[in-house]
Amino acid sequence: MAEAALYDTYARAPLRFERGEGVWLFTETGERYLDFAAGVAVNSLGHAHPHLVETLKSQAEKVWHLSNLYEVPGQETLSRRLTAATFADKVFFTNSGAEALECAIKTARRYQYSKGHPERFHIVTFEGAFHGRTLATIAAGGQAKYLEGFGPKVQGFDQVPFDDLPALKAAVTEATAAILIEPVQGEGGLRTVSKDFLRALRALCDDNGVLLIFDEVQCGVGRTGKLFAHEWAGVTPDIMAVAKGIGGGFPLGTCLATADAASGMVAGTHGTTYGGNPLAMAVGNAVLDVVLEDGFLDHVRDVALVFRQGLASLKDRFPDIVEEIRGEGLMLGIKAKVPSSELLLAMRDEHILGVPAGDNVIRLLPPLVVTAEEAREGLARIEKAAEKLSAARMKKSA
Ligand code: PLP
Repeated sequence: MAEAALYDTYARAPLRFERGEGVWLFTETGERYLDFAAGVAVNSLGHAHPHLVETLKSQAEKVWHLSNLYEVPGQETLSRRLTAATFADKVFFTNSGAEALECAIKTARRYQYSKGHPERFHIVTFEGAFHGRTLATIAAGGQAKYLEGFGPKVQGFDQVPFDDLPALKAAVTEATAAILIEPVQGEGGLRTVSKDFLRALRALCDDNGVLLIFDEVQCGVGRTGKLFAHEWAGVTPDIMAVAKGIGGGFPLGTCLATADAASGMVAGTHGTTYGGNPLAMAVGNAVLDVVLEDGFLDHVRDVALVFRQGLASLKDRFPDIVEEIRGEGLMLGIKAKVPSSELLLAMRDEHILGVPAGDNVIRLLPPLVVTAEEAREGLARIEKAAEKLSAARMKKSA
């Protein structure tokens, strides 16, 4: 292979996939891999889902792109469906998660500004958070490894420890515009925010004139077995960022807000060339056709149970390899006792894909259409990987 003319920002696995079908990916040489990475929680309906393929093809023959200078019927339909299914009244479409977060942050700051509080522009975030790779979202995430070398951190992001209510209360001041949190941390290592903490956040925001922003870019769109993860806690945000699964593989993000929270975003305050283009809207609507079907979320919850039980038994059988099982629904994490990169490699040898995360965790993010049988097949492969790794380590230490 000739050296590729790409930035060196990724350490890529030497795998070249040519096509996919459901939860399976096929390499150029015809080898089959079970895809429990799903493009990092993106391929919510698996690969080459017939309804998505048909929708994309048929839209491609009509019109691809228009810009936001004109009315786009697909935007109207998708926004109506999203607001009908959530707390939100207003929607802005983007192409990615980071852009959805940028819109969420701007919406919160602009809300405070338009209510006569321009001094309220700080956003409180949590350790271990990940909100994207733009300059504002690396400041929001607050991780040194992503901030280093990119000049002064964007102002106005204050970070507090995870699950620490007293620290959070101390950090909320007259300068705070909003609190931003992932209901389930993805890249941070599959840490679930407790229902009580989410409820306490809502109360704290209400008491202090602060907006609550949920980042459901990774945990949203059915991944936890509810349409959005915050529904488990029975609290709603003022603003929410969504991406990944909503496009099923087509670049699509959205920022959702209540009418009040979005009230500062008047004509001219924000924009995008591509966001909400007809191709993205067609696919987003097609994803919702499936995810909102009766029984779809029940299926996610049922298969999640199969995973839970299988992973619990994996932990019991290989306590030298597995420390803890984490996560919700089909957003699961194996916290490894060995370096997680070793376990991920051993899994890859068994032709099953996962995603690395912080805190020595491997994420399992299968397509939401995964069947119980495919889940069991995956669990068997992970078990084989753990068994081989355990034997190899024993041999090494003998
Ligand atoms: N927020 C969360 C929780 C994410 O997991 C990600 C991506 O992994 C983002 C934001 C950023 O999304 P994108 O990479 O589409 O910009």
